[in-house]
Amino acid sequence: MTNWLEKILSKAKEAGAKLSNSFKKTTIKNASLWSSCPDCKKMFLGKDLETNLYVCTQCDYHFRISAENRFKIFFDNSQYNMIPTKKLIDDPNQFKTELKVYKDQLKSAKKKTNQNASLVSANGKVNGLDMVCSSFDFNFNGGTLSLQSGQNFYEACEYAVKNKVSALTVFITTGGAALQENLFALYQMPKTILGVQMLKKNKIPYFVVANVNIGGVSASFGSLGDFHIMEPGKKTIWGFAGKKIIQGTISEQLPEDFQSASHVLTTGAIDMVTHRKDQKKVISNLVSILLKKEKSQQLYSDYDDIKVSQIVNQ
Ligand SMILES: [Zn+2]
Repeated sequence: MTNWLEKILSKAKEAGAKLSNSFKKTTIKNASLWSSCPDCKKMFLGKDLETNLYVCTQCDYHFRISAENRFKIFFDNSQYNMIPTKKLIDDPNQFKTELKVYKDQLKSAKKKTNQNASLVSANGKVNGLDMVCSSFDFNFNGGTLSLQSGQNFYEACEYAVKNKVSALTVFITTGGAALQENLFALYQMPKTILGVQMLKKNKIPYFVVANVNIGGVSASFGSLGDFHIMEPGKKTIWGFAGKKIIQGTISEQLPEDFQSASHVLTTGAIDMVTHRKDQKKVISNLVSILLKKEKSQQLYSDYDDIKVSQIVNQ
């Protein structure tokens, strides 16, 4: 009798464990398939979000996307080659606090993104035009500008000049300079500016497309584009110090849309606000105008008379 009961209980336990494991696996798997919009909270299946270029179909919130996804969206047929760069020293200040060791943060960010820094670059065709594209990845330490990121951008400029490409575009989603690297991070401001100067000297158009552009990045190569484009939405940011810091300093409340795309457009700091699905077309159109290239399938024949506002409305 006891054996009979023990057998049933043992089988029931096994079945329960299997059910529990299966439930755990299903839940984790399904959870990774779903994302919610940080603005309106609408739920999306991962593949639907990808199809919609990581933009919310309900409120147009532009998700902060990885450098890899930027390249896949920007380059023709998602085909591109990564631009290799010289490896510099990690964690030059050997920075750590009681809670975090910067070297460990870098290690984890590298593993998560498969990148050597928060900014990486690639080369490929954009509507048939040869271009270099650099992109920050917010998943890499909040997209902060480090010694290696600055080097990667500078080498992207060198590559663009050496290979005489049609343009260089940088996609910016950054938290500013990497404070853990102190002066080494601040030195990247003049270094990246020298990169931009190299482009200008060689008449290579330079585009800045920003989702979040603040701190040491907006104070250097993030504000030196021939064209400044922002992604729409009240959660996109263009400024220097953050809103909370400014409010604390002046002891005043700032408007809700302070530093957002719609507000910054009125100040003249940017040229246009462009939806992610239109960025490739707008940039390749402008490059064609600037370089007076032949009209491709999405370009204009009478480009000499085209005005920026007309291009944006296409
Ligand atoms: Zn939304």
